[in-house]
Amino acid sequence: MKQYDIVIIGGGIHGVGIAQAAAVKGYSVLLLEQTELAAGTSSKSSKLIHGGLRYLESGQIKLVKESLRERAILLKIAPGMVKPVKFYLPIYKKTSRPAFYIAIGLLLYTLLGKFAAYTRFHFVPKKQWPSLSGLEIKGLKHVFQYWDAQTNDKNLTEAVMSSAIDFGADIACPAEFNGADKAPSGYEIHYTQDHEKIICQATVLINTAGPWVNLVLDKIRPAAVKREMDLVQGAHVIIKQPAPKGVFYTEAPEDKRAIFMMPWQGQTLIGTTESLFTGNPADVRPTEKEIEYLLRITRHYFPNWQTEEVARFAGLRVLPRSKSSAFSRPRETVFHQDKNHPNLFSIYGGKLTGYRATAEKMIKKIKHLLPAPKNKYSKETDDLLLTQVTDKNN
Ligand SMILES: Cc1cc2nc3c(=O)[nH]c(=O)nc-3n(C[C@H](O)[C@H](O)[C@H](O)COP(=O)(O)OP(=O)(O)OC[C@H]3O[C@@H](n4cnc5c(N)ncnc54)[C@H](O)[C@@H]3O)c2cc1C
Repeated sequence: MKQYDIVIIGGGIHGVGIAQAAAVKGYSVLLLEQTELAAGTSSKSSKLIHGGLRYLESGQIKLVKESLRERAILLKIAPGMVKPVKFYLPIYKKTSRPAFYIAIGLLLYTLLGKFAAYTRFHFVPKKQWPSLSGLEIKGLKHVFQYWDAQTNDKNLTEAVMSSAIDFGADIACPAEFNGADKAPSGYEIHYTQDHEKIICQATVLINTAGPWVNLVLDKIRPAAVKREMDLVQGAHVIIKQPAPKGVFYTEAPEDKRAIFMMPWQGQTLIGTTESLFTGNPADVRPTEKEIEYLLRITRHYFPNWQTEEVARFAGLRVLPRSKSSAFSRPRETVFHQDKNHPNLFSIYGGKLTGYRATAEKMIKKIKHLLPAPKNKYSKETDDLLLTQVTDKNN
C-alpha cells in the first residue's frame, strides 16, 4: 500500500495550491479529483484576481490587505495568466453610495495596497464618458477608474497543478474519494480510479472538496464534526456584446447588489447573483430568473448593447452559516478541524485570489504532524513557488 505524507481531496484551486506548496517543500503528496481539475467552483467564478473593494464596507480589512498582496504577487509570477484590468465605477444621481464614500474606499484600497502598481484610482473626465463602451450617461455624476486583475480560473488551476506535478506531486484524476478510516499514524484512504478500488495511507488528510466539503466529511470513520454552512449559488451569463474596454462595476437598481460587466474572450461576461442552493453541488445551474436579472441590469446601464446570450454558468460559494445575508457574510477562508481528528483538515469558503496564501497557511498548520520536509522552508523554496505558474494551454 502506498504511503503519502499528505492526501488532498479535490482538484479546485485550493487543492492544487496546497499540492504545489507541499511538493515544493518536499512532502510526498497525492491529489484526488473525481471529475477533472477545476470541475467545481474554480471554473465558475467571476475570474477576478481582486483585492475585494466591496469587502471594505463590511470591515474585512485583513482580507482586503491579504488579497491585494496576493494580487500583486500573482501579477508578478503569472504575468501570462493574471492580467491587470481597468475597473470603471459609475456614480449616478440614484446610486446609493455617494461619490465621497467610494473615494474613501478607493483611498483605503490604495493605502492597503501600499501604493504599489495598480492601486491608484482617478476620476474619468466628463469629456471621456462617451467613450466608455456605451455606458448610460443620463443621470451620471462621476466615474471612478481603478485597477484589479483578471484570469482564466480553469487554466490557472491547471497551471498550478502542473507545477505541483513538476515538483513531484502525484495526481489521480478522475478518481473519487470513497472514504477514510482513522489509523494509528493518519488515515487509510479508499478511492476509485478506472473502476478499480485503491487504498493508500496518508499521515495528513486535507479536504478541499469545495461545495462537497461536508459530503466528504460524511465519509470519514469514525464520524467527523462538520461545520454548518450554506451553499450560495452565483450565476453568470456571457453575451454577444464585444468586450468592453474594462470591467464595469455597477449597482443593481432593484436590490443595490454589485453587478460586474467584464470583457471575456472577446465578448462580455456578466455576474453575479446570490441565491441559496440545496441539493447535489454537481447539479447547480443558472435559473431563468437569474439570467433575466443580470440582463435587465445590463440593459439599464448599457441600453444599446447586444444582449443575446452565448453561454451561462453557475458556481457555489461555501459560506459558514450565520444570520446575516449572503452578501455581508465574511468571505475569509475557514480552516476547520475536529479534536477527534487532529490529522484531518477541511477548507470552507475562500477566494481564488488567496489560494497561495491559503496553501501557505495550511502547510504551517500541518508541519508539526509530518517528518521534517526534504526542502527547508526557505527563501529559495518560496522563490521556486513563485516562478512556476505558467499557462501550458498557450
Ligand atoms: C459565483 C462565484 C464567483 C466567484 N468569483 C470569484 C472571483 O472573481 N475571484 C475570486 O478570487 N474568487 C471568486 N470566487 C471564489 C472562488 O471561486 C472559490 O473560493 C474557489 O474557486 C473555491 O475553490 P475550491 O478548491 O475550494 O473548490 P472547488 O473549485 O469547488 O473544488 C472542489 C473540487 O473537489 C472535487 N471533489 C468533490 N468531492 C470529491 C470526491 N469525493 N472525490 C474527489 N474529488 C472530489 C470536485 O470535483 C471539485 O473539483 C467566486 C465564487 C463563486 C461561487
